[in-house]
Amino acid sequence: MQKQLFRASVAHFPEATNSPQTDIVVFHDGALVVEGEKIIAIGDYHQLITEHSEASVQDHKGKWLLPGLVDSHLHYPQTEVMGRFGEQLLNWLENYTFPAEEKFSHPPYAQSMAKLFLGECLKNGTTTGLVFSTVHKDATDTLFRTASAINMALVAGKVCMDRNCPPALQDTAESARQDSVELISRWHNNGRNRYALTPRFAPTSTEAQMAALAEVASDHPDVFIQTHLSENLDEIDWVLSLYPDCKGYLDVYEKYNMVRPRAVFGHCIHMRDDEWSRMAETGATVAFCPSSNLFLGSGLFDLDAARHHGVKVALATDVGAGTSFNMLKTYGEAYKVCQLKHSPFPPLDGLYMMTQGAAVAHQLEEDIGNLNPGSYADFVLLEPRFSDLTALRLQNTESLQDVLFAMSILGDERAVEQTWIAGRCRYHKDKGVLF
Ligand SMILES: [Zn+2]
Repeated sequence: MQKQLFRASVAHFPEATNSPQTDIVVFHDGALVVEGEKIIAIGDYHQLITEHSEASVQDHKGKWLLPGLVDSHLHYPQTEVMGRFGEQLLNWLENYTFPAEEKFSHPPYAQSMAKLFLGECLKNGTTTGLVFSTVHKDATDTLFRTASAINMALVAGKVCMDRNCPPALQDTAESARQDSVELISRWHNNGRNRYALTPRFAPTSTEAQMAALAEVASDHPDVFIQTHLSENLDEIDWVLSLYPDCKGYLDVYEKYNMVRPRAVFGHCIHMRDDEWSRMAETGATVAFCPSSNLFLGSGLFDLDAARHHGVKVALATDVGAGTSFNMLKTYGEAYKVCQLKHSPFPPLDGLYMMTQGAAVAHQLEEDIGNLNPGSYADFVLLEPRFSDLTALRLQNTESLQDVLFAMSILGDERAVEQTWIAGRCRYHKDKGVLF
């Protein structure tokens, strides 16, 4: 098998850590060696070029090579509703999101949107997403098929909802169970795919549907669960009125076996102390979606509270309420949220939450999130000095921290030169998306 050696400034977190500042590993004149789909070596360029003299070399000295980015919460059918004006969560769903999702009953439309959606991920250096599909089983199959064609490590699921949404988007308790089980058997651990049971959120599922999904969750302890939690104050009041037996919003999910490792809850803005404690005790993960929270006026995520309780946090765009597919820009928005909370959020902490920290939270660190030998060769090549302004800003610095921060505040997809998945280039700035 042909070996490929990439010369660049290389950085990653090889292990799980609570101290990203000290545990980042950086090779300023570094190299990554790839054979087939996997990484076989990482280190200093001059050492690796002698050890792997037969490898074909790509010289990107001065650019940065980082692990492929992980977006821990986003919606593929909402790509077209990004940037729609003026609503908060519940009206936004009704006026923009549900009409867009209805279009996914038409297979050719779902197919074209799956390609467009994954293409936007690749252009921004995102190589794994935890993705909500629509209620449609076929549209979910389409998304998995499209990701499989490029060997992408996708986590996704069919949305389940049988009330409080348009009739055309409703399944039933029984069909949600059957479709989810069928999709799990077809896609979970098939190639690089993983399945996520996906009740949209508590208000759109009946108790009968939640009970049916609880059984599926118990029968499949290693599937993911993804949903929304405590995003908006009106939403929380609504949940409590719909589930009068439950003490709180998280309690609804807990009643139905949905709070556990590999359960990923979007938002978690308005949380009680006891809910934070339960999140930590159960090993569940929060997806912190700053651009979406600001855009919908939902509130400011309390990163200090999550950290204080020891809850795992991963960063996410929440496209389409999120305003960008770009994870570095999303960290930049998270930084601003934390500024308003008077809480420091350094860029290396942000990088951790979109690479190794996310992979560890999702129990995928054997495969993704880092550049360790044995991991899949999923990585992104960045040119931080992609514009006159960023070249000026970064003229006298080689510090990763500084480069990351400048890219997060001043950057966007123009910084992404190449995105590689499993040893193949799938986005190249000059050639576009390579399906
Ligand atoms: Zn969402």
